Amino acid sequence: MKRRPAKGLAGFPNLNARPLRYNPRMKLRLHNSLTRRVEDFVPIDPQRVTMYVCGPTVYNYVHIGNARPYVLFGLLARLLRRLYPKLVYARNITDVDDKINTAAAAAGVPIATITDRYAADFRADMARLGVDAPDVEPHATAHITQIITMIERLIASGHAYAAEGHVLFDVASFPAYGELSGRSTDEMIAGARVEVAPYKKNPADFVLWKPSTPDLPGWDSPWGRGRPGWHIECSAMSEAHLGETIDIHAGGNDLMFPHHENEIAQSTCAHGGKIFARYWLHNGMLSIEGRKMSKSLGNTFKLHELLEQHHPELLRYMLMKAHYRQPLDWSATAVDQARRTLDGWYTTLRDLSGTRDLERGVSDSELPEEFLTALMDDLNTPEALAVLSRLADAARKADTPETQAQTVDALLAAGKFLGLLQVDPEVWFQGATQDSALDEAQVQQLVDARQAAKKAKNFAEADRLRAELLDLGIVVEDTPQGPRWKRANAATVAA
Ligand code: AMP
Ligand code: ZN
Repeated sequence: MKRRPAKGLAGFPNLNARPLRYNPRMKLRLHNSLTRRVEDFVPIDPQRVTMYVCGPTVYNYVHIGNARPYVLFGLLARLLRRLYPKLVYARNITDVDDKINTAAAAAGVPIATITDRYAADFRADMARLGVDAPDVEPHATAHITQIITMIERLIASGHAYAAEGHVLFDVASFPAYGELSGRSTDEMIAGARVEVAPYKKNPADFVLWKPSTPDLPGWDSPWGRGRPGWHIECSAMSEAHLGETIDIHAGGNDLMFPHHENEIAQSTCAHGGKIFARYWLHNGMLSIEGRKMSKSLGNTFKLHELLEQHHPELLRYMLMKAHYRQPLDWSATAVDQARRTLDGWYTTLRDLSGTRDLERGVSDSELPEEFLTALMDDLNTPEALAVLSRLADAARKADTPETQAQTVDALLAAGKFLGLLQVDPEVWFQGATQDSALDEAQVQQLVDARQAAKKAKNFAEADRLRAELLDLGIVVEDTPQGPRWKRANAATVAA
């Protein structure tokens, strides 16, 4: 059938332009922590774009804050794959670290028992959250040879020295040290409470290799049996899989100092002064109800627990609703709002399901230009989500079935790109929530009782029943056809 040209839609002018696809003149712009500016992204080799994201240290379950870089930079990877023929995205697993040693010693097991378990859990959690697997997932313990070689190069070029079984990076040998975080050496030492040790030339010098006692994991090296420092692991893995100079390096802004600063020092010096990573991206920290997540406050929300309580799309929405560079506060109120927004979009899809076959897949070519423009603008996910709201609104107001179907397609395509609107609306609304033990018949009984109270003009009782239902995670909506209910599946995160 010949499609009629789309008619203009108020507030959504790009729907006029068909086909709805990425305009090659649009440029990807990214905020570079190195220059503190938003810049055009220009890869060294457009045929092979490279990105490294610091992965988790696997000694425990990851928390919802850890999921933020993986969801957001995973989305950036999706965008880069759309723009370039090849992306090599490496996200490592830190499987040798003193925190792992402590956890293994406490459990009386070898470190591999701990790291294998939590690396597997991490992968499973990422899959449930709809985070695409990276192209490479290097493990630090599988790169000891490369780590040792890199340390040897640093010693040979005068940037590192061995002392008492340790090898230290000589910070004074790298004048650019501190450029990323913009701190002076004194500030860095004070802020990071760096260890002052007699074998260090300078308190800011950091460990590349350290000796292991027989009870600790260790590998033979020119400096005796020992293990690598955390920072050198990322430098060596990045070099092994992506090369000496990479396009993008990303992680949380808590890693900017000392981890990323040290990675830059090591890699630049090991590569004869070549720039290490050209664009540095940092996400802001996630807090809970306005407070930093911490074990002592008991507010460290584990991702796997939240995945038991909420639909993964709700978690993704929560992580994308703030711009990645901004802080993000997780609160019961925000979860409620997220749920309401998703419910609204799913309501639109349910109500308009007659206009298209929801089973029919959507393709990237249906992505609206306005949506891509938002993502190309330093991954502006709040704006991309606003486009989804405008599309849902435009779909409801569309004055021809063709325009409506086209708008729903655009909504679904944009949702798919963000990992949202992937389930059947009926499944979304009836989706069992773990926070309500009520079965459908029980819910219906309460809904009927409320309706009866309303009919009897006993509004106080009707309100009480509505509140009771809400407490049980059930939202009642009054429609001309009578009351409709759905599971709210929200507000369960309050400690
Ligand atoms: P880690 O395993 O501690 O190295 O953390 C893995 C990733 O999660 C790193 O990129 C961290 O910067 C990031 N991260 C840790 N805590 C938070 C938080 N509260 N909010 C956002 N990102 C975080
Ligand atoms: Zn790293």
